[in-house]
Amino acid sequence: MPASLLQRSLAAVWHPCTQMKHHETLPLTAVVGGEGPWLVTEDGRRLLDGISSWWVNLFGHCHPRINAALRDQLERLEHVLLAGFTHPPVVELSERLAALTGGALGHAFYASDGASATEIALKMSFHMWRNRELPQKDRFLCLEGSYHGETVGALAVTDVALFRDAYAPLVRQAATVPSPDARRARPEETASDVARRAAVALEARLEAESGRVAALILEPLVQGAAGMVMYDPEYLRRARALCDRYEAHLICDEIAVGCGRTGTFFAYEQAGIRPDLLCLSKGISGGYLPLSVVLCREEIFRAFYDTDTRRGFLHSHSYTGNPLACRAALATLDIFEEEGVLAANRKRAELLGRLLEEAFSDHAAVRHLRQRGMVAAFDVAGEGVADDFSRRFFVAALEAGALLRPIGHTVYFMPPYVMDEPELRALVGAAATALDRALT
Ligand SMILES: *Cc1c(COP(=O)(O)O)cnc(C)c1O
Repeated sequence: MPASLLQRSLAAVWHPCTQMKHHETLPLTAVVGGEGPWLVTEDGRRLLDGISSWWVNLFGHCHPRINAALRDQLERLEHVLLAGFTHPPVVELSERLAALTGGALGHAFYASDGASATEIALKMSFHMWRNRELPQKDRFLCLEGSYHGETVGALAVTDVALFRDAYAPLVRQAATVPSPDARRARPEETASDVARRAAVALEARLEAESGRVAALILEPLVQGAAGMVMYDPEYLRRARALCDRYEAHLICDEIAVGCGRTGTFFAYEQAGIRPDLLCLSKGISGGYLPLSVVLCREEIFRAFYDTDTRRGFLHSHSYTGNPLACRAALATLDIFEEEGVLAANRKRAELLGRLLEEAFSDHAAVRHLRQRGMVAAFDVAGEGVADDFSRRFFVAALEAGALLRPIGHTVYFMPPYVMDEPELRALVGAAATALDRALT
C-alpha cells in the first residue's frame, strides 16, 4: 500500500512547535482546501478555523478579492530586490500604513516574518541611540510572559520558558517587568488598578537602569502566546509617558493584535497613544503570504540619514517588500476600508461574547472568561484538568469539527472576521463538547 500523505509528512516534514513523537498518538490533519472560515481535510471533513490558522487569516480562506489581487500581481511582477529598486505595491502599502498611523509612523521597513520584525525594531532602536552618541542605551525591557518571536535575537525579549530555556545560553536576555495582567486584580481592585501597579514597577526599573534602556517592547492589550493575557489600556498610557520621561523607545508589537483583532485597527489606538516603532505581520497579508513590517517615527529615520553607510540601518532579507505579499496586504486594506469590517466586527464580537457567556460562565472548570474584540479566552482549572489538557482538548475539538488549540490551560478563540451566527454557534458548541471530553 502506498504511504499516506500523513505518513509521508511525518517522515519528511519537521513540524514546528511540535514534539514529533507525540504524533505516534496525536493525529496529524491533512488540509487540501479552504473556504471562508472552513478548512477541508483530505478525508473530506470540514473544520471551522477557530484560530485563523495561527492568528494570520482575517477574512477566511481563499477570499475572492485577495485571490484576484494576487492573480493580477502574478501576471505583472512576482519579485524584485528592494535595494536600489522599488515597485508600485510596496510604495502604496507604505503610504497607506503611514496614513493609518495618522502620519506619525511614516517610514516602513519590511521583512517576511514576525520574529524578524522584532529584531529589526530592536536593532533600529539600539542603532538610533548609537548614532545619537548614546551607545550606553543598549538594554531592552519586556513584559513578563512576553512573546515576540523565536529567532535568537527575538528570544531576548520573549519570556516564555518553554521557548527560551533550551536556548538560554545563546541569548542576551532582556529584563522583564511585571505584566499588567488583569487577572491579578486583588479583591476590590479593577484592571486599571493592576495597570497602575505594573506601571509603578516599570518606573522603578527605568529609574534603576539609569539611562541605559533603549526600548520597552510590548504587545498592546493582549499578550497572545502568554495565554491571551489581557490588560487595561491605562498601562499603555503610563508606559508611553514613562518612555518619554526616561528617553526610551516604545515598541508596540502588533503582530498578533494589529489589523482589527482587538476592535480598533491598531490596538494602541484604544489607549490614545502612539508607539515609536510598530511591528506588524500575521494578518497584514490577510494570512496569505509571509510579510512583516516595522513602521517608525520621523526622528528615528532621521538619525540614520547620513552620507556614511555605517550610520545607515544595516539589515536586509532577500524577500524584503515582496510584491505579491504587498499586493495581498493592499487587498486586505481595501477590504477593511470598503467593507466596514471594524463595525461588523463589533457586532460579531458582541455575539461571540454572549455565546461564550451562555456556554461557559457557569461551568465549574472555567475561570476568567475574557474578551477584547475578536479575541476571547478562558482558563481551565480544578478537578479533572490533566497536564496534557491542551492536547486532549485539541483532539476533542477536531472530532467536534473545530480547530481550537489551547495554550496550556487557556482555551482561546481568534476566529476570522467572516464567521457569522451559525459558524460562531457551531464553534462555541464544538468548544463546549471538547471541554467536557477533555476533562477527566
Ligand atoms: C507570532 C508572533 C510573533 C512572531 O511572528 P512569526 O511570524 O511567527 O515569527 C511575534 N510577536 C507576536 C506578538 C506574535 O504573536
